[in-house]
Amino acid sequence: MPESTIAAIITPHGVGGVAIVRLSGKSAFSVADKIFRLRSKKNLSQLRGYTGALGDIYDGEDIVDEAVTFVYRSPQSYTGEDVAELCVHGGMWVAQKVLRLCLTHGALPAGPGEFTKRAFLNGKMDLSGAEAVMDIISAKNDSALKVAMSARDGAVFRAVSDICGRLLDESAHIAAWSDFPEEDLEPVDEVRLAESLREIDDKTAQLIATYDQGRIQREGIATVIAGKPNAGKSTLMNMLLGAERSIVTEIPGTTRDIVTESARLGDIILNLSDTAGLRDTSDLVEKIGVERTKEQIERSELILAVFDNSRPLERDDRELLGLLNGQRCVAVINKSDLEPRLEIAEISAVIPTVVMISAKTGDGYEQLCKEVADIAGMSSFDFSAAVIANERQYSHLNAARQSLKQAIYALESGITLDAAGTCIDEAYNELLCLTGERVSDKVVDEVFSRFCVGK
Ligand code: GDP
Repeated sequence: MPESTIAAIITPHGVGGVAIVRLSGKSAFSVADKIFRLRSKKNLSQLRGYTGALGDIYDGEDIVDEAVTFVYRSPQSYTGEDVAELCVHGGMWVAQKVLRLCLTHGALPAGPGEFTKRAFLNGKMDLSGAEAVMDIISAKNDSALKVAMSARDGAVFRAVSDICGRLLDESAHIAAWSDFPEEDLEPVDEVRLAESLREIDDKTAQLIATYDQGRIQREGIATVIAGKPNAGKSTLMNMLLGAERSIVTEIPGTTRDIVTESARLGDIILNLSDTAGLRDTSDLVEKIGVERTKEQIERSELILAVFDNSRPLERDDRELLGLLNGQRCVAVINKSDLEPRLEIAEISAVIPTVVMISAKTGDGYEQLCKEVADIAGMSSFDFSAAVIANERQYSHLNAARQSLKQAIYALESGITLDAAGTCIDEAYNELLCLTGERVSDKVVDEVFSRFCVGK
């Protein structure tokens, strides 16, 4: 446990109703007592945990501000240490002055994420839970928030610990068998062991598979709006953005560059690219757009393929259908307000999800929200389940799988049991690094360096 007492302003840097300066560490109360006088004449050190008291902040004998100070006693605090939170009037000058007074009386300035780092070091949360704190702060929608809250409550930790538990059982059995051959231990059944490792590998793979879903929830889904010129792509994009961003025109082929914007469709963030029409043309500028559309389609995670309800299916439409290759796709039949001339059956044979809309009037918007949520896998998502939140967690799980595969290979090819045992231990180690139960200081520092000061 760190010896020092740290302090930082934990509220946003700006003007507001209240600003909070937090002190955490062994001397939190004694430092606070030097600058805060309770109206009740008691000391903060005499207060019970989870209580607050009205008083005044003093710089020597000068009053700085009126304040309410809350006391949290170790281990029942965010960091697990003694914590005092001085709530002053929310102006930057006041908050900074109070922070300076804390530093003058012995506290050290908290580094980025240092409160949460201490919470981790004091066993208040595992490393994936600490990372979830950042995800809670940066959540842009309800689903990202729910997933981050579950991770904060240990959903990832529990899922990984479950796998660790099984690995440890197998490893212990192998170790006992090879270290104490003279004991009357049950022999290791290599076929059963390989089978068990395959099950563990499957579980690990399932966890890895949640990474993409989590990323889509947090950052949005890379979406391309594709369709022939004049189908209404720009109008649709504007409808989604609720603003006139793309150039809408009667002349086919005006959307030449790819515009990227983020729109919220229900609870899903669409990172939208509006593309040039998919038309073969001798116009060089347009051609670049067409090529780019094809690339965009390959790179995106969701395609909104726009068709014009008022015109029969044309070569460009068929070309677009031909480019689709099992990606998540919604066929958006636009201009539902006009006389229908489109052969929808030919479209639905390729794209099972079809929505009728009028980008001009907004009709069909709700249905589009629903279909996109379904196709992005959000409607059936279990928010309490473990969701892998970042590249660090993802790479430890992948490395664990590599080791598991080597262990299975060792068993199947008759290499010594010890070799399989070593691979199992490696996989176990990777998972402990993920949860932070066995992790270097360097990695811990790296994780918390991404936090802001005050968190
Ligand atoms: P893009 O080339 O695919 O981007 O198509 P635009 O968005 O520029 O639209 C082409 C033309 O179709 C414009 O005149 C739009 O006003 C019109 N348009 C777009 N959506 C609708 C719609 O839902 N109904 C009707 N009646 N016209 C539309």
